[in-house]
Amino acid sequence: MLNLSYFLPTEILHGPEVVKRHAERFKEFGRKALLVTGRESARRSGALDDVTAALEQCGIAYEVFDQVENNPSLENVAAGGRAARRFEPDFVIGIGGGSPLDAAKAIAVLAVNRFGPEKLYEGDYPNRPLPIVAVPTTAGTGSEVTPYSILTLASKQTKAGFGNRSLFPRIAFLDYHYTESLELEITRNTAVDALSHLIESYLSRRAGDFSDMVVESGLRLWSRALPDLKSAAFSAGMRDSLLTASTLGGMAIAHTGTTVVHALGYSLTYFHGIPHGKANGLLLAEYLRYNLQHAKSRVAKILKSLNVKDIGEFKELMQNLLPCDLKLTPEQINEYGIAASRTKNASHTLGEVSSQVCIDILSSSLG
Ligand code: NAP
Ligand code: FE
Repeated sequence: MLNLSYFLPTEILHGPEVVKRHAERFKEFGRKALLVTGRESARRSGALDDVTAALEQCGIAYEVFDQVENNPSLENVAAGGRAARRFEPDFVIGIGGGSPLDAAKAIAVLAVNRFGPEKLYEGDYPNRPLPIVAVPTTAGTGSEVTPYSILTLASKQTKAGFGNRSLFPRIAFLDYHYTESLELEITRNTAVDALSHLIESYLSRRAGDFSDMVVESGLRLWSRALPDLKSAAFSAGMRDSLLTASTLGGMAIAHTGTTVVHALGYSLTYFHGIPHGKANGLLLAEYLRYNLQHAKSRVAKILKSLNVKDIGEFKELMQNLLPCDLKLTPEQINEYGIAASRTKNASHTLGEVSSQVCIDILSSSLG
């Protein structure tokens, strides 16, 4: 089988006990590591214990910054940057869901660049960010193989990402055991984020043969896990398939970026506290419907690979996986639609994404 990791700057190490089996690999990044985690999940999943045992075995000193919030803010990563500048690590290890992994990327920049976090968006950093190692504990964002970091910007009342090739993690350690402690709702929300990456990449202006190949493999694995996602009876195989599908989704968006679904979803998270993957999932059916005019056969392929007969059945599937009673007012729909139409993500979408297109997707989804 073709090893897709050779196409990426990130080396992917995969399988049960992968951190333990490859403990020596941490040595290549230096003698001091800053571990970046959320408040609980890194411990609860067992990943933190495995990583600290590996570091101790290698004689690597470490400190843990365990203050990463969900949807981390600029202030939150600035605090991590200060912790890093005090400790002066040689590299950063992000452990957790997308929030700690994205925070780790921002902190890797701020550790060696003495500027405010708003400058993260300017690219061109005077000093090269510290090397990053990623250990995901959710199967959703694929952040372990992307150069992106998505942060909450209170000043702009939204979330926004920055990307830089130097932020591709050097190694992603994928062990599905770390996702076994996820509760049902987070498992479903994050799984739908992975699905959203796969679908958005396939329906992106920037899609090409390589990203298509990655997406098609990802969709196959994702649909293999779907019966378990529906029934909530999780097998080890399903967790592994989902984690791989999620990483493939990350590889796909590393090439194409996301589209207007993510741009619209950011408002649902910022203003209504809807978790990231769920926010995307609530919009996906209407996004597929919008794409019928631009890429009918691609939409049909997506539905077929998920074993659903039409967009109506797909919408029902999302409603069952992501129960939600949010209804937006016409004013909210207008505001979020206009904001989303001005984003870079919108420009990756097929067709001309006017504010009216965004408004229509939102109002048919949540109006
Ligand atoms: P998350 O915000 O990282 O975590 C959600 C919740 O799940 C947290 O309460 C977390 O606890 C908990 N959790 C994580 N792993 C767990 C485990 N194994 N067992 C039990 N609980 C666990 O969620 P996420 O959906 O993975 O990440 C979302 C973020 O990623 C968003 O900010 C989104 O914008 C970003 N994102 C980034 C990319 C990219 O390419 N960089 C792509 C898509 C999305 P703790 O708080 O204790 O950690
Ligand atoms: Fe996402």
